[in-house]
Amino acid sequence: MSRKYTGQCACGAVKFEFGTDPNFVADCHCMDCKRATGGEAATFFAVPQDDFTLIAGSPKAFHYIADSGKGLDRNFCAECGSRLFSSNLESFPGLVFVTLGSLDRPELIEPGVEMFTRRRLKWAKPLDLPQFEGMPG
Ligand SMILES: [Zn+2]
Ligand SMILES: [Zn+2]
Repeated sequence: MSRKYTGQCACGAVKFEFGTDPNFVADCHCMDCKRATGGEAATFFAVPQDDFTLIAGSPKAFHYIADSGKGLDRNFCAECGSRLFSSNLESFPGLVFVTLGSLDRPELIEPGVEMFTRRRLKWAKPLDLPQFEGMPG
């Protein structure tokens, strides 16, 4: 039986699941998120690494140094290019950051904060959420 949340890439080669209800869910406007997604912002959330399970495929990892100077691996499907999750986060050990749009049911999880709003483009309207110019806290 699969756990509460399941997700996959666009071609379905890579699939994952986890059971944790995330308590950090962010809509992030930073330049890293813009470049990695090709969009104005990325919505992602944190899941404990030991709860996050790959159930099909093997994503390709790209090691990357963020604006913060800390390293992380961006994991994507080598077949279709979909970005799925970030792991080995030097700034957040023990956590995996999963992109909301990878979920089979993205409507189940909603952002709790909007961050790096100083990078938000003028045409994007603030969400009705706590706003942070950079990282929260
Ligand atoms: Zn794929
Ligand atoms: Zn970001």
